[in-house]
Amino acid sequence: MQQTGSVPDYAFLDQMEAAGPFHVAECFQCRKCTSGCPTTFAMDLYPDQIIRYALLGLKDEILRSRTIWVCASCETCTTRCPNGIHIAEVMDYLKELAVREGIPSPMPQILALHKTFLDNVRQGGRVFEGSLLPVYFLRSGQLRDKIRKGTWLDDAKMGWRLLRKKRFALTPKPIQAREEVRSILRPSRKGGISS
Ligand code: SF4
Ligand code: SF4
Repeated sequence: MQQTGSVPDYAFLDQMEAAGPFHVAECFQCRKCTSGCPTTFAMDLYPDQIIRYALLGLKDEILRSRTIWVCASCETCTTRCPNGIHIAEVMDYLKELAVREGIPSPMPQILALHKTFLDNVRQGGRVFEGSLLPVYFLRSGQLRDKIRKGTWLDDAKMGWRLLRKKRFALTPKPIQAREEVRSILRPSRKGGISS
């Protein structure tokens, strides 16, 4: 478990619940969320610990944790929780809050993927694979690494094979409800991942 050292923020729980409500205060620490979570191997705080830390006002420890970034939003925890706590939604909220408060992500490539995915959907109303990966590689710095290591050619070959098999198109297919999707992704939470 991560060491705690910052001053507790006792208003943090209210701040969270105002954005939810997530019903975090209902937690009785049964750990069913953690025992079903598929990504605990990469976490520094387990899901039940995130909830516990929130109750204790340990906002800084939570927002600096790897856990909120490696959460895969699979909803297993939410489904398993006997108290109906919206744990997966809590993780999403915490990611947005960390970005809004300018706390650097310990997993910058995951942050780059989040931003790229949301920008991509916002542009076309649906994911367009033809630009998703190239933009992600650029934004995350992976393109530079691949060029340096010479592995970019392997990706280019795979892309060519997929293109020949018509697994993805070179131009996005328009959808009818593009503006509606854009409005969903146009949140009032300025400065977050999705803004
Ligand atoms: S499953 Fe629900 S009640 Fe149990 S520890 Fe996790 S959040 Fe708390
Ligand atoms: S939503 Fe996140 S925290 Fe919950 S089980 Fe899935 S990966 Fe784990």
